[in-house]
Amino acid sequence: LPPAAELAGRFPLTANPAPADAETYRRCMDALAFGVSFTDHMVRATWTPQSGWRGRRTGPYEPLTLSPAAAVLHYAQEIFEGLKAYRHQDGSVWTFRPGFNAARMNASARRLALPELPEEDFVASLAALVAADERWVPATPGASLYLRPFMIATEPFLGVRPAHEVEYLVIASPVGPYFVNGFQPVEIWVSQHHHRAGAGGMGAAKTGGNYAASLLPQQEAGEKGFAQVCFLDAATNSYLEELGGMNLFVVHRDGSLRTPSLTGTILEGGTRGAIIELLRDAGREVREDTIYLDELRSQLRSGEVVEMFACGTAAVLTPIGRLAGADWDAVVGDGAAGPVTTGLYEELTAIQYGRRPDPHDWMYRL
Ligand code: PMP
Repeated sequence: LPPAAELAGRFPLTANPAPADAETYRRCMDALAFGVSFTDHMVRATWTPQSGWRGRRTGPYEPLTLSPAAAVLHYAQEIFEGLKAYRHQDGSVWTFRPGFNAARMNASARRLALPELPEEDFVASLAALVAADERWVPATPGASLYLRPFMIATEPFLGVRPAHEVEYLVIASPVGPYFVNGFQPVEIWVSQHHHRAGAGGMGAAKTGGNYAASLLPQQEAGEKGFAQVCFLDAATNSYLEELGGMNLFVVHRDGSLRTPSLTGTILEGGTRGAIIELLRDAGREVREDTIYLDELRSQLRSGEVVEMFACGTAAVLTPIGRLAGADWDAVVGDGAAGPVTTGLYEELTAIQYGRRPDPHDWMYRL
């Protein structure tokens, strides 16, 4: 990829908003609550079949003007991505594997019959937004600027077909460290009756509908006192797929790991891929596999499985301390964060924050 300074010019600053006042800015940067406050700018571009992508620009963060007939509001033709900008000790700002997210957004675009965006435009859009909003990248340890690229069908038309007018946007929100008091293991409810995705569906795409499908089971789990839901496959209801917004790993007593294979019904996480590479670098065995719930339950009972964790951009790694369903309940290991989970968390965050060499060229300077 060309350097960010070169790419950012693809989305020129067309209008400079009045920056947030000092008081609002200070409050946001102190609270650093996830996805609550947004920076001064946003980036956008428009697509039509005749002209392709045009109107690339960086302007004020502001409400959208959208026809009530816009296709996205009716048929959910929408995709998104999520990644972070990290401030390093020397003040420079970096992001993690933007090429992976560009490719994943284009895979989602193909599934949702949306136009693909060239990888260089995707990275350029991040570079332009961070250049305009640099002061919003927190320097607080463990904090970052969460970047949310998304694409929506804006054509005002109620016919069911791929829209002929699409908008790409990027917004950003300063966010704090996920774990304020160190690693907190979460308790997971395994959903028996609701599924997130089925074969041939949209499970492998990052599209709003998948998250809409996860809300009710998530709410039901919350009422039972569980933080997150783990979904089983829709065809046989027998093996683990992923959480509503994170992938999943199990750690065996012999130090090997397993993670659900990419069957087309789960989202391929960038964190998942990086963890697999780090483990293989260290000579550890990692299998992409079918993880049957019955088998896992007996392995938790026998002590064959000693740790479990979830992973994704927001939390990096989250230890799983307990797993339960309608008529069963299992503690994972001793219920606390284990050494493999903790070690991977330290290793990955050290690369992201520039405290450790980056042997895979994952980091890209914005
Ligand atoms: N699965 C789902 C359903 C997700 O929404 C996410 C978050 N993007 C992940 C897995 C983890 O992906 P990543 O590591 O790229 O954030």
